[in-house]
Amino acid sequence: MASHGAALDQWSPASWRTKPIKQIVMYDDTSAVSSAVTKLSSLPPIVTPTEIIMLKSSLRDAALGKAFLLQGGDCAELFSYCADEPIDSKIKLLLQMSLVLIWGSNKPVIRIGRMAGQYAKPRSSPTEIVNGKEIPSFRGDILNGFDPDARQVDPDRLVQAYFHSATTLNYVRGQLASGIADLHNPLDWGLGHVRDPELAAKYQKIVHSISDSLRFMRTIGADTAGQLQTVDLYTSHEGLVLEYEQSLTRRLKHPAGYFPTHGSPDGKGWYNTSAHFLWIGDRTRQIDGAHVEYFRGIENPIGIKVGPSMQADELIRLLDIVNPTKEIGKVTLITRYGEGKVESMLGAHIEAVKSSGHIVLWQCDPMHGNTRSTPAGIKTRHFSSIFSELSSALKIHKQHGSFLGGVHLELTGDAVTECVGGSEGLVEEDLSLNYTTYCDPRLNEKQALELAFLVAGHYRE
Ligand code: PEP
Ligand code: MN
Repeated sequence: MASHGAALDQWSPASWRTKPIKQIVMYDDTSAVSSAVTKLSSLPPIVTPTEIIMLKSSLRDAALGKAFLLQGGDCAELFSYCADEPIDSKIKLLLQMSLVLIWGSNKPVIRIGRMAGQYAKPRSSPTEIVNGKEIPSFRGDILNGFDPDARQVDPDRLVQAYFHSATTLNYVRGQLASGIADLHNPLDWGLGHVRDPELAAKYQKIVHSISDSLRFMRTIGADTAGQLQTVDLYTSHEGLVLEYEQSLTRRLKHPAGYFPTHGSPDGKGWYNTSAHFLWIGDRTRQIDGAHVEYFRGIENPIGIKVGPSMQADELIRLLDIVNPTKEIGKVTLITRYGEGKVESMLGAHIEAVKSSGHIVLWQCDPMHGNTRSTPAGIKTRHFSSIFSELSSALKIHKQHGSFLGGVHLELTGDAVTECVGGSEGLVEEDLSLNYTTYCDPRLNEKQALELAFLVAGHYRE
């Protein structure tokens, strides 16, 4: 502990620069990076401390079993997704899934989009072969372009990321304020594709039950405070490109009534104002590394991806570093072992965390341990593997006297064909119909909603 429990007074938004870093970005033009960072540092926060602390407090509820967290969005968000239709469809999908999960779990659901800033991707290899030529891998729109001619890292993209993020969130805020999530309006559940009559009847029953409840609430005037008119939707992304995250980390006044457990003599703290919630990826979570150093100093609620190579003692050391005061709601552990490994790993992690005295929010990411390649070399995921890891996680938590507090999904509101399975019966041959992801395969709208139905059904059984 001695070398890791460094006090916060030794932390600064730039202290990560003294540590070894994975997924390093080598810019050719360092003066262009400096101008980008100077520009970013002068721009206003995209999100505010009041919102960040409100989310942290809701996540505390989820960690204590009183709420459920739904987090979802693209693997790699592109700047071109900053357009009305993809944003609208994602808001509507997250809203519908959350209604189903509320119905199932009997708990309030916290919604976080992987959006308005999910522009950076860690890669397993710095280069790839395209048309017989070795070129740099696509690292997300914040660094380079997907087009083979645009693979050179371009510092101006850091600034573009800010404006696309702010524009996306501005539109989300506008649509929410204008009634896109107004539960007085009928919702289109589009269940026509469910061919299995038993399954169709089951889903239809859930939809009726939700519609009945909404009608009842409207009839008795239960929405006098306007709760049926809109919902909260928070934003998140992987905190990977630390030049960007540092530039948007500001010393700001705490919201009224918030007193950080680590103290704060001047009533201020370091807020990452690029998103409400940030997570550390499975490839950048080294105890002595730059990303963990950066993350330990910010006030935001954070996530840590927990893959199959995570040792139990390593996990506890990480928690002690990023959350030495054991604040509840601060850390979400996003487990992503794969359907074949969850049984042998999750239980031990739950027990280790229990005996450490930390109380975390356990969230299951059933996507990243279940990526496969088809014989034709297309990256996909099977709906059944995704549901299997999720069901195992629900069961294992129960067996250990714990509970699953949330799900983390890669999804899109569009009719893509990237994951196989689900009621639509997508098979590998269908993948080429509408395969548009620039990184990992996402659940389409129907598959995502179906997953919500299945999880809800699990709670009600
Ligand atoms: C991701 O969430 O897109 C990702 C890269 O996940 P992980 O760090 O868990 O591999
Ligand atoms: Mn991904």
